[in-house]
Amino acid sequence: MNVPLVLTHFLDRAVSLYGDKVGVISEGKSLTYRELNERVNQLSHGLRDLGVKKGDRVAYLAPNTLEMLEGFYGVFQTGAIMVPLNIRLKPDDYVFILNHSESKVLFVDYELYHLIAPVKNELQTVEHIIVHGKTDDIYEIAYDTWLAQYTKEPFERPDIDENDVCSLLYTSGTTGNPKGVMLTHRNNYLHALSTMHHLRVSDRDVYLHILPMFHVNGWGAPFYYTANGATHVCLRKAVPEVIFEYVNKYKVTVMHMAPTVLNTLLQYYEQHVPTIEHDVRVVIAGSAPPPAFVTRVEKELGWEFIQVYGMTESSPLSTVSTIRAHLDHLPLSEQYRMKAKAGYAMIGCEVKVVNERGEEVPRDGKSIGEVIVRSNGVMAGYWKNPEATMETIRNGWLHTGDMATIDAYGNIDIVDRKKDIIISGGENISSIEVEGVLYEHPAVLEAAVIAVPHEKWGETPHAFVVVRPGKEVTEQELIAFSREKLAHFKAITGVTFVQELPKTASGKIQKVHLRNEYWQSIGKTGRYV
Ligand code: ATP
Ligand code: MG
Repeated sequence: MNVPLVLTHFLDRAVSLYGDKVGVISEGKSLTYRELNERVNQLSHGLRDLGVKKGDRVAYLAPNTLEMLEGFYGVFQTGAIMVPLNIRLKPDDYVFILNHSESKVLFVDYELYHLIAPVKNELQTVEHIIVHGKTDDIYEIAYDTWLAQYTKEPFERPDIDENDVCSLLYTSGTTGNPKGVMLTHRNNYLHALSTMHHLRVSDRDVYLHILPMFHVNGWGAPFYYTANGATHVCLRKAVPEVIFEYVNKYKVTVMHMAPTVLNTLLQYYEQHVPTIEHDVRVVIAGSAPPPAFVTRVEKELGWEFIQVYGMTESSPLSTVSTIRAHLDHLPLSEQYRMKAKAGYAMIGCEVKVVNERGEEVPRDGKSIGEVIVRSNGVMAGYWKNPEATMETIRNGWLHTGDMATIDAYGNIDIVDRKKDIIISGGENISSIEVEGVLYEHPAVLEAAVIAVPHEKWGETPHAFVVVRPGKEVTEQELIAFSREKLAHFKAITGVTFVQELPKTASGKIQKVHLRNEYWQSIGKTGRYV
């Protein structure tokens, strides 16, 4: 008989094999896997007491804390569905997501409670709000007191099938409104098995939660690090000095982060040169890390860097660039070449790059097409949105909307999102490539490139730039710099200097807002606005 691939198995395994080992470090407290499991049991008993049944939705609004981590297993054990909420949204967005997902219980961190308080009365299905940490609002339930009432004894689980949905994750909203992605136990389980192989996760790992657990980028970590008995170190805010402090203090071995966080880390390092007493085994990033960052992480910090590619709809990862330990047979130059790409299909995934007619483009590392994915991680669909599901998953293949090239090894190199590609005089320009060049300029702290209208060429690349503190640069200098480094048709033709760039909670630059801003500034409405 087949064993159902259900996520509760991962914590069970950690408790039986690593029960006395430190499983979580959060806000100065350390808990063993056994202690974590006891809290998880208390939480499941508590949820049952509140009337939560299999299939019900339980929402979480919390940064990376012990309470958030235990939430996954506490909810899964009851057969309910976890709805993690992005902590950077506006109160109205929470009303939309909580009503749309029909969540029954909401757990919220005390620091974020003010986001919910003003809209409490608009929540149509939420019956209980439970506040993590201290709360001054006597009308809400305080988590610690509530949890303490329940037994630590094992929880009697309902039958959970591997194809049952276990999480409803809303996409980043980088390109528009977030959509609710339904992932099953099987999706997350097989994604975790594959990731732990590719990242060589082991019980010696100490994982620092920099990426938010509520977001799909940081999503698989509560599963694959637990399954292997690694230690979770929770981090409330991704502040560089704290990251360096934790690396030394807790002997962190692995970190995943968004390129923007990587950038702040490199910045901090450059200014303060903190002593790094402990070696991080590997740093992992998706979302188009500029090549300049990659080299600096390896050369200056001495940490191995690998790139991954994924999206909420695929649990998330589909490709991973090769970890050095797997590349020992190749010369160093070849290793770097392999690592600069988003990587090849992970075990359990099939990845193709296709043209508009759905035919595979040549595997020459040059021809561009859309990435399509078929894998064990591909979602069950968008919640309450069958049309969008049918549009995205066609003939069993997830259409990612991302454009890439593919080489003879099957390594893909993401060129751009379909919507971000700049079409100038009939040529396709990758905004990612142009940004990569701007990041090489010493005065550029952050850069984002979008298409803007051009009388002759249709569109042309325009950059939004944040200048490094203490440095100066003009628009003309940046244009000249990009012309020096790029084919002329790819060079930027204008710059808007800004104090900061609009970002999602995971640190992605929201070009949709930059486009809006630009089109408004010229008094017009343009594409993709
Ligand atoms: P929304 O779908 O709501 O607009 P989003 O697409 O940003 O938001 P996510 O699922 O968090 O939501 O992000 C997935 C996207 O991130 C991918 O489709 C891709 O465009 C981008 N991405 C991920 N990894 C990489 C990478 N290594 N290189 C380039 N882009 C990447
Ligand atoms: Mg998307």
